[in-house]
Amino acid sequence: MQYECIKAKSLLSKPHVADSWFHMNRSLNAYRGCEHGCVYCDGNSEYYHVDNFSSHIRIKENAAQVLQRELKKLGFTSRSELESETLWSFLDDEDAKRIAEKVPQNLVIGACGGVSDGFQPAEREHKVTLRILETLLDYGLPVFILTKSALVLEYLDLLKEIHDRAFANVAFTITCADDEVQKVFEPNAATTSERYAALKEIRNAGLYGGVMATPIIPTIGDNLENMTELVKKTKLANGEFIQFGGMTLKPGRQKDYFMRVIKRRYLANYDAIERIYENNNTYGQPIWTRLPVHVMTMGYHICREFNLRDRSVRHKTPHEHESNNLVLGVLLDIVFRMGMHLGISRNRIKPYWELAAQIERGADELGELKQRGDLKQYLMIDDSMVKTIDEILKTGTCQVLKNLEARIGTMAETELDEEMRVSPDEYS
Ligand code: SF4
Repeated sequence: MQYECIKAKSLLSKPHVADSWFHMNRSLNAYRGCEHGCVYCDGNSEYYHVDNFSSHIRIKENAAQVLQRELKKLGFTSRSELESETLWSFLDDEDAKRIAEKVPQNLVIGACGGVSDGFQPAEREHKVTLRILETLLDYGLPVFILTKSALVLEYLDLLKEIHDRAFANVAFTITCADDEVQKVFEPNAATTSERYAALKEIRNAGLYGGVMATPIIPTIGDNLENMTELVKKTKLANGEFIQFGGMTLKPGRQKDYFMRVIKRRYLANYDAIERIYENNNTYGQPIWTRLPVHVMTMGYHICREFNLRDRSVRHKTPHEHESNNLVLGVLLDIVFRMGMHLGISRNRIKPYWELAAQIERGADELGELKQRGDLKQYLMIDDSMVKTIDEILKTGTCQVLKNLEARIGTMAETELDEEMRVSPDEYS
């Protein structure tokens, strides 16, 4: 393994607007390259311009300083800066509140897990992620973490402090219920059992957390047995949700390496997988009609059986109004169901996504606007959208979402009736 300390020039990604997958607004990577060496890793592709992605790890040793600089530029003020300016402890409650409100806090940063795990083995020595988390605590910002490592538990006290000030949401990527299968595809990451044990500890500590079951590998992981096991284990670990997703395979290095491993370890599945990805789509998307099952639909069905959310949760950021968070959560569920489950056209999704983006950027309290009858004028929306928001504020959901979920439920039942699993032989 080669390690190289580098100086990052910038850290935060461009804004993610109304992100219905992870509910984060910006992401960052503490490292470039990842020792976990997952066979399906996107980072292997030429798209990211990182050679030897799993064996040459670039350590962004100045990441915390760059993050501080970028947060300041975005208008955020750290607690330590405020304290030094104002003798915080002598302020009365009103003044303290006024100053705290000066700090904008409606930003959720996805620290780690974009395209390099922030809790990979290099973190033990270099502690770049630790310093990033300390910075987020100082700025009172929430954090979303996605990892395949139990090392995250070493920072549990710090994460609890972040959770007390804002929130800490720790999701584990888990795609293979069986440790043996998982070791083939994620050789250097924590085992599936270790990740579930870590999730349980995270939840026992009172933090938010769940499972991102993605990528589910077609013909290997997309069967009822594996997916049901994942749902059961998530439930046992008290995860808030499990969200399933499929696999992309970009032509070039990523696909070549993945297919070499399939040939060696899962020869019987080789032809089927090759046919699913034979379009060599630039983004690695499969030929949808050749997929044995729609994993999100099957995930929806299994989760319903076990009474577990099949969608990530949108948590309220510190200064966000309850009612705004409620409406945003439902709107983003609509966007996700329409786009990811049902493949509905962008034009039909757009009004919901745009409204979500508008609210996320900071709208007045929707509950009060509704009471004053100002929703339509303030948000510049039509009567049907006003009705939808009204319903969400009253009941926590709306007919639009219920109809979409009913369609997904019917699809799941039909597919299950037709035996969702298709044998790899059918592709050879
Ligand atoms: S943990 Fe994520 S970034 Fe690291 S090798 Fe695996 S898929 Fe790639």
